[in-house]
Amino acid sequence: MTENPFFTASTLAYELPPFAEIRPEHYLPAFERGMAEQLAEIAAITADPQPPTVENTLVALERSGTLLRRVRGVFDNHSSADTTPEVDRIDAEISPRLAAHRDAIHLDAALFARIEELHARRAELDLDPESLRLLERRYTAFVRAGARLGAEEQARLRGINAELAAAASEFRQNVSADSKARALVLDSAEQLAGLSPDAIAAAAENGRALGHDGAYVLSLKNFSNQTELAELTDRSVRERLLAASLGRAAGTNGPLAIRMSALRAERARLLGYDTHAAYVVADETAGTVEAVDALLARLVPPAVANARREAAELAKVAAADGVEEIAAHDWAYYSEQVRQTSYQVDAAALRPYFELERVLRDGVFFAAGLAYGVTFTERPDLPGYHPDVRVFEVFDADGAPLGLFLGDFHARASKRGGAWMDELVTQSDLLGQRPVVYNNLNIAKPAPGEPVLLSWDEVRTLFHEFGHALHGLFSDVRFPYSAGTAVPRDFVEFPSQVNEMWMVWPEVMANYARHHATGEPLPAELVERIEAAESFGQGFRTVEYLAAALLDWAWHTLPEGQEVADAEEFEAAALAKAGLAVAAVPPRYRTTYFGHIFAGGYSAGYYAYIWSEVLDADTVEWFKGNGRGVRESGEVFRRELLARGDSRDALDSFRAVVGRDPETGPLLARRGLL
Ligand SMILES: [Zn+2]
Repeated sequence: MTENPFFTASTLAYELPPFAEIRPEHYLPAFERGMAEQLAEIAAITADPQPPTVENTLVALERSGTLLRRVRGVFDNHSSADTTPEVDRIDAEISPRLAAHRDAIHLDAALFARIEELHARRAELDLDPESLRLLERRYTAFVRAGARLGAEEQARLRGINAELAAAASEFRQNVSADSKARALVLDSAEQLAGLSPDAIAAAAENGRALGHDGAYVLSLKNFSNQTELAELTDRSVRERLLAASLGRAAGTNGPLAIRMSALRAERARLLGYDTHAAYVVADETAGTVEAVDALLARLVPPAVANARREAAELAKVAAADGVEEIAAHDWAYYSEQVRQTSYQVDAAALRPYFELERVLRDGVFFAAGLAYGVTFTERPDLPGYHPDVRVFEVFDADGAPLGLFLGDFHARASKRGGAWMDELVTQSDLLGQRPVVYNNLNIAKPAPGEPVLLSWDEVRTLFHEFGHALHGLFSDVRFPYSAGTAVPRDFVEFPSQVNEMWMVWPEVMANYARHHATGEPLPAELVERIEAAESFGQGFRTVEYLAAALLDWAWHTLPEGQEVADAEEFEAAALAKAGLAVAAVPPRYRTTYFGHIFAGGYSAGYYAYIWSEVLDADTVEWFKGNGRGVRESGEVFRRELLARGDSRDALDSFRAVVGRDPETGPLLARRGLL
């Protein structure tokens, strides 16, 4: 085997990984050497006869694990954005070993003793604020990982973590496999009536690609409510499509969810908390289970009332089709009818105004230029990890190089659903690294030569994910541990949600929303009607989201020892108890394909989206009403918040921008919940 490309630092610009040289067989040896190197680095820290200092302990810890970070960044993306059975197998093998590696560090008594000593003396060490913050965060992380437990409890903790890591990998692969297996196969184009000719052609192409020649295949997207439900006129096809979606991985992942929530409850008890949720939120801006309960309880009744009002509107339209009661598979379809009749908004007619390239350059990048003065240059000379990947160099207002942004916008069979941002290289002054970040979306690829026309939601997703990207790109901190998006989970969605504001900002929208063929701008009165129609759909969207958030909450507020016999029954009871059993509005994710909480980092954290939205809605009002220009406001937001990462308390950063504590009024108004 030629030299493993992970073993040395990349020589490409910004240390962009040399994707062209990386092959799957490089991963395991790189992971193994990376873990061994980091353990040796830590052994050197603990063997140091000098008393602990920030430099010889904390900073040394920050410098450790370079190779492991390098391979993890690439592998995490590979296994999500372009996986293969071989990569899946590596993921299943390495996940528990990485969990064990993290435990080996956090449960290293000699290392913790040094950190604990520093922490005890922190007041007399005369530390700069960033170093003090790092010390506090590291100390907390060690304690939360079990550093203070006895040997027997630590052994049990290691067992739980390894089992959870393996289960999460299995859960994810079950969702992926069953989503593919349950794709809806239809024999005739008539069954697809209502879809655009492009979408029908794509379904036929999908059929060929998946070995169903002559058939039409609708692949399932991550969430419950499949996008085609808004357009398919054949009610029985809608019913089959939704049933395929809602039943995903029911046989395999129900028992896994039960097992995982029990293990998390046991771990929480070991660590001194009543429930996993209590353990999680103790380290979030929310702080307590009660605080989250209070926000959710305040939102549920008005959201459900809104959804019921919307259902009554839908029923009026549906009656004309002889539909007596709106079922879950009817909701999106009749919503679309109401949008067209009451608001004169036709989703399909919007797409020609949202051509991907134009939305990206004249919308997303343009807005970043307006607010922050940054510019973008495409770098086709720098290879991505897949032919679809675009690489852009980002420059600051003064022309200084900032980092790289990779855009991987299209769906493919090897990519998981959803949209996300992550990093390949983390910004750090200490390590002399500038950020390399990427966005992944799942936009269907049109036929060759055809323009990529986006839906309203896809445009919003593009702005949203780019908000995360900016959070990574603008990071300006010393330590990698504190960089960019390394903020509390119930805070991290806030900057990305704020970035959605530019989508409809008049100056931005006028710049990008133009007809791809004629160049004609999206008519202003159409924009007003869209916004009115958006507020009509808030009942559904809020209930769908809250149902998922409450499911997550129900699984993770279970105390240790409370047995769950059946995942489906547990789910139904939890929704009923929360007042969210609205039959026609299924949760955005059901338990068995809720990857965020069973295969991702959002267990007891799905509430974070609406929690962050409080900050988001409040900040949007600040942007609009603070009397400064956009550029000046953008500078404040960047300097005081985006650039800080986790180098100071998240809510302190919020206060530094807005000048006070967050208020819920703007969110309630936005969601029609007042
Ligand atoms: Zn996000």
